[in-house]
Amino acid sequence: MIVLMISLMQYALTYELDVNTFSNYLDVQNRHLHLEWLLNMDKKYINATSTYKFQVIGRSINKITLDIYKLNIYSTYLYNGLSLQHTIDNPYADSDQGQRLNIQLDKTYYKGQYIELSIKYSIDSRSRSISFMTKEQTSTKTMPYLFSQCEDANCRALAPLQDTPSVKQTYTATVIFKDTEAADVFMSADESKEEFQVLYRPQDQAGFTWKYKYFIQKVPIPSYLIAIVAGNIKKVPTSTGGRTFLVSEPDKIQAYTDELREMEKFMQAIEQYIGPYTWGTYTLVIQPPSFPIGGMENPLLTFANPTIMTGTGSGLDVTIHEMAHSWFGNTITCVNWANMWINEGFTVFLERKASLFHYNIPDDIKLNAIIGNTSMYQDMLGFGLDSNFSSLHPDTTGLNPDDSFSKIPYEKGYQFLTYLESIVGEVDFQQMLRAYLVQYKYQSIDQQEFQNFLLRYLYEQGVDDYSTKRYKILENWNKWVYSPGLPPVILDFSTVKLTEAYDYTQSYITADGKQPTKWQDYINFLHSQKQVFLEDLFKQAQNNLLKLNVIEQIDKDLKLTEEKDFELKFRWFRAILTAGDKTRLTQISDFLGSVGRGKMVYPVYRALNLLDHDFAVQTFKTHEAFYHPIAKNNIKNILGLKEISIQ
Ligand SMILES: [Zn+2]
Repeated sequence: MIVLMISLMQYALTYELDVNTFSNYLDVQNRHLHLEWLLNMDKKYINATSTYKFQVIGRSINKITLDIYKLNIYSTYLYNGLSLQHTIDNPYADSDQGQRLNIQLDKTYYKGQYIELSIKYSIDSRSRSISFMTKEQTSTKTMPYLFSQCEDANCRALAPLQDTPSVKQTYTATVIFKDTEAADVFMSADESKEEFQVLYRPQDQAGFTWKYKYFIQKVPIPSYLIAIVAGNIKKVPTSTGGRTFLVSEPDKIQAYTDELREMEKFMQAIEQYIGPYTWGTYTLVIQPPSFPIGGMENPLLTFANPTIMTGTGSGLDVTIHEMAHSWFGNTITCVNWANMWINEGFTVFLERKASLFHYNIPDDIKLNAIIGNTSMYQDMLGFGLDSNFSSLHPDTTGLNPDDSFSKIPYEKGYQFLTYLESIVGEVDFQQMLRAYLVQYKYQSIDQQEFQNFLLRYLYEQGVDDYSTKRYKILENWNKWVYSPGLPPVILDFSTVKLTEAYDYTQSYITADGKQPTKWQDYINFLHSQKQVFLEDLFKQAQNNLLKLNVIEQIDKDLKLTEEKDFELKFRWFRAILTAGDKTRLTQISDFLGSVGRGKMVYPVYRALNLLDHDFAVQTFKTHEAFYHPIAKNNIKNILGLKEISIQ
């Protein structure tokens, strides 16, 4: 009996494994990482030394294995200079998961012991986490530019790491760069007042001097939150709050600052729901157009796509989303990428709570949930409704987890939490989330642990009807998490604004190439309502109900081909391509060469590929150099060009 209890306790304390790391992280974990990087931005490589403080936490070990991806490894050695042998192998030879670096230690190390070692290596333009851009690819065209994107499992292309969200470590960094190649450098860390010991100091030469910057991240973070940006960039405060800042190229910074004047208020709206921001300052970097995603929640240094800057504030929900990650994702982290909804579902939930506080438009929240649901469903159709990638728990064994990336952890996760909130009650659910953050601060957990906590919390708080609530929570839990396809419970987000948008579509379809009487209603639509209308047009096109004369009339009235707001423009292009319109291919090609955000580029490439595969391939080849490696890889997948080797 005692044996059984002990084994049950051990089981309860064990989280899910991460199948996407080659590291022996269950036996040994890194506690602190120090990076020394010498940037050669023009020549597109980085000379690097990383130093680790590992602690044995499981079985005794004589070997440390780390994740790498196309890094050039030169040497590995202990803190005392003793050289260590290393080998590189590739357990999944034909996969994108990367390679395994095996470091043979000098002796056996036992539980509790520390191992300090260093690795000399370099990063070159094959990296899938670093985008090296030429000065011609930037807005000011004065200096080259460099930025990283590590989520999901791409940090192994930045340094040899235990590239799993299960392991959290603090980090410091010394970045050395030429004053002619970067005006400034920032990392997902505070700037350190203390200078660190530098292993290699290059000589200044005629025409440039080397600059040094030092960074420190005192909060333990998973490796996917390590980030760097360098180029002709500067940092300015965005509001009177004193804690929010903006980084971008100098030519656009004033316009961006104007549009982001509410940033401090966004933060306050989030805090109103979930409690205080504990990370100190908050800086938003508006990246160049090739940035492959909407935003990336690197702590202290969120990266965002310039498409969120529409001039009207309509794209700023991304800012609220990334800020909300400071609580969900960065403070509590998923234990592996199968549990990504522990990051994203919670963050969307908090984002929409904060949006409601800030804007107070309940219809907008519902419409955004509907738009999210539509995108999620399209992703499910792409994977197959019965594929486990369509569940909240995708199996990415042997793959790059990016392959399973979709709206599903965001929107199905959001819907699951909304469903749980409806069982628990709004006030108790909010208090539970605040307690959850205290309980698991700076830890990585899985969905089972969240369930355990939720039930324990409700029980300990003595909530009304506990046993009924417990029954309802558990009734569909596994279906929500593990079943592919649409959620087991369909939530109602309908509003009159939705009907208005659908009626508006019908008015154009019925007018059959003429101008409907209420065509100007669009001007006063909510931004989300405009998106619903464009999604509906796409659906009509899929059903062969969107005729070319209707497209002409809509464009004449609403000027959507000239639209500056890319959130609307990409939906327009997807709809008209699906309807078979070939008259705007030049504008569509220009669009695909001016934005690298996957959410906007992939659906248009998909529609273009179905309409005219050769033109789609030709368009991709024209703009290939512009795209980030992650986007390039995904577009190749869409176009069936995966056999071309990834640079
Ligand atoms: Zn997110």
